[in-house]
Amino acid sequence: MISASCAKAPCIRPPVTLPLPQPELALYRAALVTAQVTGTTRVPPRDAATFRIPAGSFFRISSIEGAQVGDLNLWNANDLSERFYSGKTRALHGTHVGTGDRLWTSFPALRPMATIVEDSLGWYGIDPHGGSVHDVIGTRCDPYTGALLSGGHYHHCCHSNLTRALAQALGLPLAEAEQHVHDVLNVFMCTGFTRDTGQYFMKASPVRPGDQITFFAEIDLLGALSACPGGDCSAEHSSDSAPCYPLQVDCLTPDPTALEGWTSPAPSSYDRSHGV
Ligand SMILES: [Zn+2]
Repeated sequence: MISASCAKAPCIRPPVTLPLPQPELALYRAALVTAQVTGTTRVPPRDAATFRIPAGSFFRISSIEGAQVGDLNLWNANDLSERFYSGKTRALHGTHVGTGDRLWTSFPALRPMATIVEDSLGWYGIDPHGGSVHDVIGTRCDPYTGALLSGGHYHHCCHSNLTRALAQALGLPLAEAEQHVHDVLNVFMCTGFTRDTGQYFMKASPVRPGDQITFFAEIDLLGALSACPGGDCSAEHSSDSAPCYPLQVDCLTPDPTALEGWTSPAPSSYDRSHGV
């Protein structure tokens, strides 16, 4: 399909660089050197856990016992209506994120909520099939699609894990908590689109125990992480058949003087009049 259209028109690479404000990575990294672990959350396999990270701190997601991917939701800890916006993050940074990329919040705030400062899987790059890690293209495995495709009722998909964890953390009814669950950052997951048909695929994650990805919290964050029932996502979701392992989330607090000059980003300056 692609080659046919290229035969009719010259294949000129489209411009892809967006004039995004750049994060102060050198400052963040210097602060990370001073940081101490001040809290640890263990995410059980086929389940989820929540954690809180104050603005100006770091959080690190680690593989600890076996190849395992995680589905991450993030909210403004002070206003759940401001949450991670997977689609806008994809538009601004690409299908997969890595060091220096930021996770953006929903409208009307549209601001960076977290910045990736370290990623031990950065070496993976983009493989010959177009696959890479840490995607913002998959949504999250869920029981509704499971029922559509197989007719079953599996209760430990990431969507349900995140719903239960949020409900428990905030004392909300399940149905209310479910409304806050959103498309995820697929941490450590290896995915892409086929080059010939443009279809979504996933393959075994290269993650191994010891691999980590570290984020700087730009605003006060409430996070929820699910250890996906797909394990390394080499086979299937929505069952208990894949080997699954826990994940770990550490909160790291830097020396208070290490971030001098840094301020938490303000919400979007757009006046919201929409032309009226
Ligand atoms: Zn999942």
